Amino acid sequence: MNIFKIAFSWFLSLFTSTYRMKSVESDLPTKLKSNTLYVVHEDGFLEHAAMLCPCGCTEILQMNLIPDERPLWKLTKHENGTVSLYPSVWRKKGCNSHFWLRNSHIKWCDF
Ligand SMILES: [Zn+2]
Repeated sequence: MNIFKIAFSWFLSLFTSTYRMKSVESDLPTKLKSNTLYVVHEDGFLEHAAMLCPCGCTEILQMNLIPDERPLWKLTKHENGTVSLYPSVWRKKGCNSHFWLRNSHIKWCDF
C-alpha cells in the first residue's frame, strides 16, 4: 500500500466510520469504545443499545430495545453484517446531535 492510498483511506474514514456491533451480557463495559454499538442482552432478550455520541462529546447514548417501553428503537441486522437503528437518535439537550445509524454508518440530519 503506498502513502497516497493510506492517506486517501484515512481521509475517507473521516466521513464513513463504520460501526461494529458488540453484544454484551447484562452490563455495559465501564469505558465504551468509539465506533462501536453495544447491544445489551439480559436472559436472551435485547435490552438496549448504547454508543458514544458520534459528535465526539463523549456522552453515552442509550436506546431502549424493550418493546413494552418507550421510546423504542428497532435494531436491524443486515445480511452483510451491518446494523441499522430506527428511528433516528436525537439528543434534545447538550450537543443536540441528530443522526441515523444506517448500515453501520452515521448519517447526520440537517438542523
Ligand atoms: Zn454529542
